[in-house]
Amino acid sequence: MKLYPKLILDALEKVRYPGTGKDLVSAGMIEDDIRIEGMKVSFSIIFEKPNDPFIKSVLKAAETAILTYINPDIEIKGNIRAVAPEPIHPEAEKLLPGVKNTIAISSGKGGVGKSTVAANLAVALTGLGYKVGLLDADIFGPSQPKMFHVEDARPYMTDVNGRELIQPAENYGVKLLSIGFFVNKNDAVLWRGAMASNALKQLIRDANWGELDYFLIDLPPGTSDIHLTMVQTLGITGAIVVSTPQEVALSDARKGISMFTGEKINVPVLGLIENMAWFTPAELPENKYYIFGKEGCKRLAEELNVPLLGQIPIVQSICDGGDSGRPVALNPETITGAAFRALAENIVSKIEERNRNQAPTQKVEITVK
Ligand code: ADP
Repeated sequence: MKLYPKLILDALEKVRYPGTGKDLVSAGMIEDDIRIEGMKVSFSIIFEKPNDPFIKSVLKAAETAILTYINPDIEIKGNIRAVAPEPIHPEAEKLLPGVKNTIAISSGKGGVGKSTVAANLAVALTGLGYKVGLLDADIFGPSQPKMFHVEDARPYMTDVNGRELIQPAENYGVKLLSIGFFVNKNDAVLWRGAMASNALKQLIRDANWGELDYFLIDLPPGTSDIHLTMVQTLGITGAIVVSTPQEVALSDARKGISMFTGEKINVPVLGLIENMAWFTPAELPENKYYIFGKEGCKRLAEELNVPLLGQIPIVQSICDGGDSGRPVALNPETITGAAFRALAENIVSKIEERNRNQAPTQKVEITVK
């Protein structure tokens, strides 16, 4: 029997890649390098990640398919090549070389607690020992200066290796810049479109953020050009969407998620955070009242196949902490502080997992037989 490449492809078409459910050929995983010498066959299978959990099983299935459907005497030599995906916005990645991970925090609508979550998450991450920066990009209501009790801070210019840079304010170990430092709170809302985008770009590019493990961006609610600018200006590691379990909030959260995953922005969604998940009165600590509905975010997360990163209850101390400029996450031994610490730990492990899977391109060669 004479072997030719089409026969090999026909056999490989019978093998499905479990990650996508597509067969290896239509998934584009078979390199155009099939070589045949007598009864010896060699070819390459491309995997996107060097540590793809399916490498071994796919390889075995490919081998079996060729031996079963063509000829059991064939000798197979296969290469497995793992190709790391190209960064989506490569030009953005170099902008802040000292920043390891950039997380965009957004919400579909205002008032769901996005800024509260961003502030507490920043504090919880410093509590875990990470270097954290927070950019308050919410032009519609820059509230981080108040939440960090630095409303009166006046960021000054500093010389860093011959460059004049804006020195962020700092409290609780978090470096902070806010559009609120530069405009009167009541005028900020007039900053739309290009003007706001340019101001924010400057707060990223021309600021002394230094070395950061996590750079959090508190985005304006909804979907706007600002979101696009932020993504194009920065290589965003992932986006987080905050919502309450209420129907109107959920439908906007859904829009927010599809904006991030859409072609124009194309940023991985790390997950959803359900804020105001339930209310527990101090005098009845066992009781949970689902004021805005029960587990709405959990259902949305399941439906859209994104992780639910955490559920934060409605507690007066969270609100008071925001108003007094002392985020509850400063006290991880309290129930609310612990909730934000658990959230931070969960996000860190999601990001670390993602970063591991995006290890640099690596060629793995495995001889099948
Ligand atoms: P957003 O940034 O989405 O507009 P904020 O973070 O400013 O929302 O929160 C809106 C209001 O709700 C604030 O007064 C804040 O203190 C309060 N708040 C947010 N989350 C909680 C919570 N889990 N428990 C109690 N109050 C909260």
